[in-house]
Amino acid sequence: MRLKRLKLKLKGAGVDGFLVSDINNIRYLSGFTGSSAYLLVTQDKSWFLTDSRYASQAQSEVRGYRTRVYRKSLETIAELASSMKIKTLAFEGGNLSYDNFLKVKKAFRKTRLKSLSGVTSALRTRKEPVEISLIKDSVKALDKGYVTAQRVIAPGVREKDAALSIELAFRDSGADATAFDTIIASGFRGALPHGKASGKKIKKGELVVVDMGVILNGYNSDETRTYCVGRATAEQKKVYGVVLGAQERAIERIRPGVKAAEVDRAAREYIEKAGYGEYFGHGLGHGVGLEVHEGPSLSPFSDDLLEEGMVVTVEPGIYIPEWGGVRIEDMVHVVKGGSEVLTKTPKDFVCL
Ligand code: ZN
Ligand code: ZN
Repeated sequence: MRLKRLKLKLKGAGVDGFLVSDINNIRYLSGFTGSSAYLLVTQDKSWFLTDSRYASQAQSEVRGYRTRVYRKSLETIAELASSMKIKTLAFEGGNLSYDNFLKVKKAFRKTRLKSLSGVTSALRTRKEPVEISLIKDSVKALDKGYVTAQRVIAPGVREKDAALSIELAFRDSGADATAFDTIIASGFRGALPHGKASGKKIKKGELVVVDMGVILNGYNSDETRTYCVGRATAEQKKVYGVVLGAQERAIERIRPGVKAAEVDRAAREYIEKAGYGEYFGHGLGHGVGLEVHEGPSLSPFSDDLLEEGMVVTVEPGIYIPEWGGVRIEDMVHVVKGGSEVLTKTPKDFVCL
């Protein structure tokens, strides 16, 4: 089915063959979970190519392809391409370094090459029911991490030590790995949107931004909560309320057919009206799936349109230098007529 959809796209692009080198796209199109392979797709025949380390794994995982084990990848692929009479070959330019491109060019001297980036990634933005169910499993493990976060974040605890305890809890809930370096940014560090857990000790009176994600069965999850430590000040409560209000306005906008930029605008305008516009610099959200950051993009510059089956984050934030930051992030599934919020950790302003 996925391969069929890809072939339709290739027909439209006027190419005879497509060399897939992005490992996430390879997983999506073939089922292969290893880390080194290529796909060579044409309208009639599709080849899965890997090295000897993955020969038996490929046999058990890959469906719908003929398999070839190579010693020298590009030479083997070039040989196959010429035996299949491929005249115009598309490749994933965005995934190929310049050095590797030169190698491809040399190996395919007689073939016309055309960069076709983003074709498979575009297919991946709309999730199938089986993928939604895998994402929900990943979110479940992640939500459990927030239960631990509330237990371990306390005055005097180092951000890094809190991160380690939370990561152990993820693993205990079945997560295969963290999706990215766990972000625990307390006090002034909260003003860094990507302040990964450091050796800083958490102090009473601070806000703590906790942004975490896990990978389970290949599927990522991503969520942020912000806590206060001790008693919240009036301004901390106010900023939290503004971020939450902005997030709620954005989520209300989400439904198939709506422009992603419009959802971003709903949150941004709310924050601007509250007087904090200059402190919200990043885009509102991104797609999540086999990669933790994938399409569509929810930002003022996005041309993407929301479609049924997409899974996106909605993560407004306010970051005030030296004062700290607040971000609230949920994963939202675009469904017929509206949306379903997948992440379930409550959003009341909790003081630990
Ligand atoms: Zn995040
Ligand atoms: Zn995110």
